[in-house]
Amino acid sequence: MIPQGELWLVVDAGVKKWVCFKCPGGCDVQISLSLNPSRRPCWSIESDFWGRPSISPSIHQHDLCNCHFWIKKGRILWCPRV
Ligand SMILES: [Zn+2]
Repeated sequence: MIPQGELWLVVDAGVKKWVCFKCPGGCDVQISLSLNPSRRPCWSIESDFWGRPSISPSIHQHDLCNCHFWIKKGRILWCPRV
């Protein structure tokens, strides 16, 4: 299991495939986001000079805990609930 607060990047043959982390909402679900641009949905990740990751677009766990958040520069930014 991935410890809370860690973000794992799965790279295959130099290609970023997945980014995996534990849901920050406390529900203990492991989230895997596809970075493959030929699939939908697809996310992109970039890290800044200090290695802090930003992921876009936002992550919305529709069917689970209904968490909705951004990861910007290694921090969780919660979206207001609607
Ligand atoms: Zn959650």
